[in-house]
This record gives sequence, structure tokens and C-alpha cells, in this order.
Amino acid sequence: MSDWDYDLFTIGAGSGGVRASRIAASYGARVGIAEEDRIGGTCVIRGCVPKKLFVYAAQISEDLEDAAGYGWDVPAAGFSWQRLVANKDREIARLSALYEKNLLAAGVAIHRRRAEVAGPHRVRLLPGDGDGEAREVTAGRILVAVGARPSLPADMDGAQHAITSNEAFHLPELPRRVAIVGGGYIAVEFAGIFNGLGVATDLFYRGEEILRGFDDDLRAVLHEEMAAKGVGIHLHARVAGIEPRGGACLLRLREGEPVETDLVLCATGRRPNTGGLGLERAGIELAANGAVPVDGNFHAGGGVYAIGDVIDRMQLTPVAIREGMHFARAAFAPVAERPGAMEYAFVPTAVFSQPALSTVGLTEAEARRRHGAVDVYESRFRPMRHALSGRAERMYVKLLVAGGGRQAGRILGAHLIGRDTAEMVQLLAVALRQGATKADFDATVAVHPTAAEELVTLTRRREA
Ligand code: FAD
Repeated sequence: MSDWDYDLFTIGAGSGGVRASRIAASYGARVGIAEEDRIGGTCVIRGCVPKKLFVYAAQISEDLEDAAGYGWDVPAAGFSWQRLVANKDREIARLSALYEKNLLAAGVAIHRRRAEVAGPHRVRLLPGDGDGEAREVTAGRILVAVGARPSLPADMDGAQHAITSNEAFHLPELPRRVAIVGGGYIAVEFAGIFNGLGVATDLFYRGEEILRGFDDDLRAVLHEEMAAKGVGIHLHARVAGIEPRGGACLLRLREGEPVETDLVLCATGRRPNTGGLGLERAGIELAANGAVPVDGNFHAGGGVYAIGDVIDRMQLTPVAIREGMHFARAAFAPVAERPGAMEYAFVPTAVFSQPALSTVGLTEAEARRRHGAVDVYESRFRPMRHALSGRAERMYVKLLVAGGGRQAGRILGAHLIGRDTAEMVQLLAVALRQGATKADFDATVAVHPTAAEELVTLTRRREA
């Protein structure tokens, strides 16, 4: 038994912190966790989960339109935003309670208050949780799992008139028009949600194409499909400021005419939650964007470790969870069960745009940079679902295959656009991690009739 109050003290009960705490406790560690907001963190409370529920709601509007081609007469459908928000809130409350129950069942002591780092092994708990006093606890290891928060552009006048994704989940009513500033996945997803729910939606992005960092063909195809659904996408659009105008507001651009809208949503990046956290008291120097630099075992220095969005490697829930598991096993598991270095290759991901975009492995540009010769297999087709719906939407699949060298034939990346592609890419990731080749895909019998069968029947379109 050590002299510390806790073997592990975790700051932040989000995806990564909860998982790390539970795993550490399962190895017999005495674990405490502090949460200043609701248990569950960004993913459960104001990220993946409520977002996906809204995406489903938006998709239903298309299903209702598509129904006619399948013989259904659907009378003009009504929609209640307030009911959607209330039902979403109920589900979030259920999940948050489940997270709490699981922490308690694992024997983790929960402190519902803000925590800060007071020293290499000291955590300061601020007043809260029915306790008006601040107090300090000691821990053998401190795990910083505080996540990130939306950041508004510093050079935008009147940015306080905009909302972020946090507030978008609690709007008292749907606006008639929305302007979304940003071109990353959160901007693109909310554009699909608002547009699907009947809001006149415009997206303003200062870059040359939405979704920087994704495969260029995916970006272009998604742009086309979103525009076909009615989202106005304005590229090279630099927003100078926002001015309130009666009940509406004016979006002023650095070049071009101002745009009148009812609501501005800024999805212009996220910043690690390290402000005022006191990491300097443990001798830790932050990166310029506030991220905590860590080594391969998530060690930041002294007794302090960090995982998840706060280390800014890949801001994804499953990555934060895996980092949490990795940290806890490396620190508390018996030697034989300790993991090697955490692997970040072939992390699949989806953008829940309308239609969805899903991807695993290298983009074409990265594949060519790393492997030289790359064979590209692609297909853009109308899925069977739309044969009767009359919808013009097309799916897109693209495989990148090493064209030569030691890895010749290996699939380096898979990129998809279409409604259910997030479900497909999870399994593609398993195959790609195992080193699947194009010949393996060709030798695999198709499931018919599906959209996924395109993946095993692709013929080469372009060559390096
Ligand atoms: P978080 O889950 O953010 O948890 C950090 C916790 O720490 C929070 O609860 C916070 O209140 C608490 N905290 C902060 N400071 C303190 C303090 N000093 N004391 C006590 N508590 C503190 N990822 C996906 O994989 N798929 C998706 O579809 C997806 N969609 C998203 C949609 C949106 C709109 C957003 C914003 C994010 C989305 N993400 C998605 C990203 C995902 O939510 C994050 O990557 C994930 O939640 C990171 O987990 P974490 O444990 O690092 O931090």
C-alpha cells in the first residue's frame, strides 16, 4: 500500500478518462476521478452521440421523400425540433448515468468538481460536489483526460454572436437560415443536419475545399453531393465579422457581399482544455496550441500522464478510449499483460455528413508520397436503393493499391461515400490492418445485391 491517497487520479470523466479509470481499478488500483461537468464527456454529452441522433432525424426527411417511389403515400409530415431535443436529452441522461454506474461498480471514487494539477503528484479539487472548500489529494499517477473545447476565430469581429456545436444541441427552435463557418467534419456534419431538417444552409470555408486532410476525390465528391442536396458551399470565404440585425444577423466576408442569416454556427477548430489547469506546476510545458506533449506511454513528465483530445493526436472517441486502455495497462497490469506501443495506422473514421464519408488508411496523395507507384480503383454508381426513389445521389468507392515494391498489391487506403459506408469501413479496417491485397478482395465472393459488393468487383480506373 502506497502513501498516496490514490494510485491514479484522473481529471476528466470523458471517453478516455472513464475507460482508463475503470481498467486501472480492475487491476486493483485505487482510483479517483474528477469531472466538472456531466459524466460521459464530449462524445456522450455534446459530440458523437447527440450528433448522430440528429443525423438520423435529418435522414428521415429523405426517407419520407423516397417513400413515394416505393408505393407509399406519405401525407405532409410534421416535425417537432423540441421533441427531438427532448428525446435526445433523455437518451444522453441515460448514457451519462450508465457511465457513472460503471465507474462506481469498478470502485472508482467520483468527485463532481473541477480539478487542477497542484504538483507532480498533487491534485487540487476546487469547491463543488456539496463541498464549499477546495482540498488537495495526492496520487501516484495523475491522468489528464480533460479533452478539448470549441475555439472561435480570434480575428472575427462579433464572434460572440455565433454559437458553437455545444449550443447547437440545445437551440430553443430551429432557425430558418443558418450560416456555418468552417470546413472540418463538425461543420460538414451540422450542414447536413440543418439542411436535412429543412433549414436553408450555407457553409463558409476559407480553404480551397471542405475536409482538409481527407482524400481529395472524397472531398470533391462529397462537395458535389452536398451541393446537390441544397447546401450552399462557399470556398475561399473568409469571414470578417458578425453583426446582429434585428432578430437576424449579417455575416461580413473579407471579400464579397455580406450575407444575412438567422444563426451563425462557428465550427472553426477545437483547443485542448488546458487553460488554468496548472500543468506548469508539474514542470510540464504545453505545445503552442495548448496540447500536452507525451511520450509513447502517454507520460508527460513527473507523475503526470495525458490521453485523448488533450494530446491532440487524433481527436476521436475510439482513439481516446484506446489510449486510456493502453495507459492503464502499461501502468497497472501485470508485466506479462503490458502492451507494446499504441498503433495509430489504419484507424477508420467516418464523417456523418449526408451522404456519409468513410475512410481508412492513406489518402491518394499520402500513398503516392510514401509508396510512389499506386494503382487506383474506383467506382461511382447509383445504389439500388435509389432505383425506385428517383434520387440522383450516387455512391463512391475508391481503393488505393501499392503498385510495386515489397508491398505490391497491398491495399493502402479505402475511401467511401454513401449512406451506410460508416458500417462498411469498420470491417474494411480489419482487412487492411491484416495486410489485405487487391487479390484478396478479388477472391472474395460478393454479397448480392448490396452496395458493398462494389468493393470486391472493382476494376482499375487509373494508374500511376
Ligand atoms: P472528453 O470526452 O472531452 O472528456 C473530457 C472531460 O473532462 C469533459 O467531461 C470535461 O468536462 C472534463 N474536464 C475538463 N477540464 C476539467 C477539469 N479541470 N476538472 C474536471 N473535469 C474537467 N469522435 C468520434 O470518434 N466520432 C464522432 O462521430 C465524433 N463526433 C463528434 C461531434 C462533435 C460535435 C464533437 C465536438 C466531437 C466529436 N467527436 C467524435 C470527438 C470526440 O467527442 C472526442 O474525440 C472524445 O470525446 C475525446 O475524449 P476525451 O476523453 O479526450 O475528452
